Amino acid sequence: MTSALAEARPSPLDAARDVLRRTFGHADFRGLQADVIGEVMAGRSAMAVLPTGGGKSLCYQIPAMLRPGLGLVVSPLIALMTDQVAALIQSGVAAARLDSNIGLDERTETWRRIERGELDLLYVSPEGLMQPHMLDRLSRLSLSIIAIDEAHCVSQWGHDFRPEYRMLGRLADLFPAVPRLAVTATADARTREDIRAELRLEDSAEFVASFARPELILSAERKRGGASKRVIELVTARPGRSGVVYAGSRDKTEALAESLRAAGVPALAYHAGLDKQVRTDRLEEVLEADAAVMVATIAFGMGVDKPDVRFVIHADPPASIEAYWQEIGRAGRDGEPAEGITLYGASDMAWALRRTAEREMDEAVKQVQARKVRQLYAMLDGTGCRAAAVRRYFGEEGVEPCGQCDVCSGGVETVDATVPAQKALSAAHRLNGRFGRGRLVDHLLGKTKDVSDWETGLSTWGIGQELPAGQWRDLVEQLLFEGLLREDPNDGRPLVGLGDPDAVRAVFRGERPVAMLKPHETERGGKSRRKSRETEALSPADRPLFEALRAWRASEAKAQHVPPYVIFHDRTLAEIATVRPGSRAALARLNGVGEAKLAHYGAAVLEVVEGFGG
Ligand code: ADP
Ligand code: ZN
Repeated sequence: MTSALAEARPSPLDAARDVLRRTFGHADFRGLQADVIGEVMAGRSAMAVLPTGGGKSLCYQIPAMLRPGLGLVVSPLIALMTDQVAALIQSGVAAARLDSNIGLDERTETWRRIERGELDLLYVSPEGLMQPHMLDRLSRLSLSIIAIDEAHCVSQWGHDFRPEYRMLGRLADLFPAVPRLAVTATADARTREDIRAELRLEDSAEFVASFARPELILSAERKRGGASKRVIELVTARPGRSGVVYAGSRDKTEALAESLRAAGVPALAYHAGLDKQVRTDRLEEVLEADAAVMVATIAFGMGVDKPDVRFVIHADPPASIEAYWQEIGRAGRDGEPAEGITLYGASDMAWALRRTAEREMDEAVKQVQARKVRQLYAMLDGTGCRAAAVRRYFGEEGVEPCGQCDVCSGGVETVDATVPAQKALSAAHRLNGRFGRGRLVDHLLGKTKDVSDWETGLSTWGIGQELPAGQWRDLVEQLLFEGLLREDPNDGRPLVGLGDPDAVRAVFRGERPVAMLKPHETERGGKSRRKSRETEALSPADRPLFEALRAWRASEAKAQHVPPYVIFHDRTLAEIATVRPGSRAALARLNGVGEAKLAHYGAAVLEVVEGFGG
């Protein structure tokens, strides 16, 4: 072949880049996207581990559009499918979903379109896909790609294990000629290996991006007294922003949402115990709002990719570092700065370990799960960069401190507390494991109410005058984390006793120092340190136009019953407000403006801009 001929035919990657520009309005591929797409375009299976917001969906959407045949996307949650399909349709892509929520008429119509070869992408659930009649129908079609989204769900070593995912291994035999692409945002080395084995991707290329999420500003703080009061403080300090608050129980989501509403925050509760219609309505309300706070159990999340979530607050800690990264990963998907704030306590850790121990599963799996719990708390309660700890956990090497988490920015300091620790341990020893934390602290301070003679007679009575009650509570918490104290659940009224005897002895002998976290008071107001890049870039003169564009988008979204961001992201609106395009061609050059959006909204946007003097 002459070089002239080679040039005349665009390479698959050039074609892919063309779709990226024309349909999705993005200037170029990001990170590993081009590598992954290149592999699939060559007809080979692959596994891609890209961080949340890394643009995983384009890795299968673009090949599905370019390669002949129908692209299948297996996805674990209906909310995820709904959102992606809505966004694809906005961009002019022929996509549909078949899930248990789709009525018979629509189902029939979708199949008609599939059989006529009109669809590029079909979203299905794993159990829906593996039904014999579905497989049978699909086997008579030509398929372009089978994408397995959230592929970590296949592994019991990870989190979020879903037994239905195990069936997907059979796809290798059923569709040997179709490239399969497994994508996930979270998988440590072991989980990755498991995914490849389960999905029969042993011989396929693996693309693992960095887990860095530089737009996320992380912090963690121990729960102190009224944790819900602290959550309200944190949320009200971030007015007019969208956020997610994760809580450990259904009741707590309801109670927190109510307290937040009482404090003037538009907050809604979301959990699996709510009526399905209520859930759908609330989800829609939050997605369509410019600023709203969802207070949810982890039933809310996977697949909710509202790009402008500015904070995720864990009112109760996540289950593992994977879960942490995935849950806070829902913030800042638009690449703008966002915060992940975690509240945690030693009793949360004890509860998680107990639950793991009680679960019915292999001893080996239990041990892995227990280690995951400990690793999570080591990160949360640790004194090293949080982002770096997470990235190391995922197997990244040569990781530098992030420079912006609470630890890096000096928000976390430690002080030596060996002597007070010795006092607290002696007191716990003398009180003989018969009392809770509050009583232990009162004893140290000599403030026990209605105290009896035997207690005032103990050598530890009132020996802790040097610290205020709050710091004693912190220290007791610290000792629980370190296993120097142990809490007996005692049916919800926990009793504090001594922990690991060797470690306790080492503290008494002064061989083991105890350092205590010192909270950084100035940060506690919870102000966000960085303004959004989009907001920062926007000059005051452009702001009114930006707001007018947002208002236009809100009414358009409402009329179409879709979330505003599927029309245009904030960042695109900010660019429009800054550039003030005077023609369709100028508008088309902006990031996020593809052909379909130009055709649908070009005139309206230009009109809004013109209203501001062009
Ligand atoms: P995830 O990996 O979390 O599934 P998505 O595929 O939803 O991420 O993409 C996250 C966001 O990044 C989306 O808003 C998408 O439009 C945007 N995006 C993806 N690829 C690019 C790119 N090459 N250039 C600019 N924006 C992109
Ligand atoms: Zn850091």
